[in-house]
Amino acid sequence: MEFHALLIKYAEIGVKGKNRYIFEDKLVSRIVDALKKVSGKFRVYKASGRIYAAAEEPFDLDEAVDALQHVFGIAGICPMVQLPLVSPEELLEASVRYFTDMYPDYQGSFKVMTSRANKAYPYDSMELNRMIGEAVLQACLKAHVDVHEPEVAFHVEVREDINLYSVTIPGPGGMPVGSSGKAMLLLSGGIDSPVAGYMVAKRGVVIEAVYFHAPPYTSDRAKQKVVDLAAQMAKYTGPIRLHVVNFTDIQLAIYEHCPHDELTIIMRRYMMRIAETLAKEAHAQALITGEAIGQVASQTIQSLVSTNEVCTLPVFRPLIAFDKLDIIRIAQQIGTFETSILPFEDCCTIFVAKHPVTKPDPERIRRSEEKLTDIIDELMETALRTNEVIVCG
Ligand code: ATP
Ligand code: MG
Repeated sequence: MEFHALLIKYAEIGVKGKNRYIFEDKLVSRIVDALKKVSGKFRVYKASGRIYAAAEEPFDLDEAVDALQHVFGIAGICPMVQLPLVSPEELLEASVRYFTDMYPDYQGSFKVMTSRANKAYPYDSMELNRMIGEAVLQACLKAHVDVHEPEVAFHVEVREDINLYSVTIPGPGGMPVGSSGKAMLLLSGGIDSPVAGYMVAKRGVVIEAVYFHAPPYTSDRAKQKVVDLAAQMAKYTGPIRLHVVNFTDIQLAIYEHCPHDELTIIMRRYMMRIAETLAKEAHAQALITGEAIGQVASQTIQSLVSTNEVCTLPVFRPLIAFDKLDIIRIAQQIGTFETSILPFEDCCTIFVAKHPVTKPDPERIRRSEEKLTDIIDELMETALRTNEVIVCG
């Protein structure tokens, strides 16, 4: 079957009132970006509250659908056969040809669903439903009509031209990236943070990321793993600017001056502070982490409160109430899991205490951090100044 165009259905952005066109325009540009990467040339346009991608040359349907399934904001993709505004006789012929090509030897139920936006067309939608239904029945003797729960809903749209389609391939849902601000993701090499970034991006947020690297304690391969994760996420989010911050000296200073049972929590607090500075520089309005209540010692509610209190920007933790298995399922679905489980060292696990505090006492933590007063500002400045930016994807 040769399709001529894709009808792209969107869900949530349809309800944005006066701002609707902003969302639609973002979605159109995300679709244009996605289709640039596939073979074939497309013209993407809005018409009567819908988005179409019309092929200007033959294209590979699977490849185009795969690209669109990475575009947030798309609820469904309908491959269409398009006809010019032909006569009713030719429409019947084309409809039968479509149906028998799509469903050879069809034995199930169907329903014709005509919509006639073009009121000048000789027959109305009820008449067309009946005429096309009869023509299909004559061509497919074992098929039958079921108007309530048809297995195939055959759409015939009579507009400036005519569209035929009967399949809606699900899209990823969500809202187009770029329609709701920007956030800075703390991206480690683990399973959780890529999923957290994916979830926030799905709500239309542009993602930048920061990775805290601790050479020589963490290797180049650990860093490459994070670059690879960002590139995988970028298939959904568009290119991600990844800040690689050298965290070694800060980590060593904490190790030298602070109680060892508080190492992880203090280290996490400095990560949050640096991430916030980078976020503000990048005009991001929030931070994102992959934390979930109770997953590890640094993620008890008390620990979360402690890492939270060093930030003024809101911290989004989309996985806060997720079970690990549910997070893993999403990681597998979005293609980050295989990379996340590669066994490279992680800077959080280099200097871990045997018995980290699970209920950090805010006063005690502040007193421990005071021990860094003389050196920490300069270390933070150096870390920020030597920050390497890699554009991933
Ligand atoms: P993940 O699977 O995302 O690594 P985790 O379960 O290993 O999470 P932690 O190591 O406690 O949890 O980290 C909690 C969160 O802190 C991570 O989800 C991530 O957002 C951030 N984080 C931890 N380590 C780093 C790092 N080296 N660089 C950037 N962010 C980090
Ligand atoms: Mg981790």
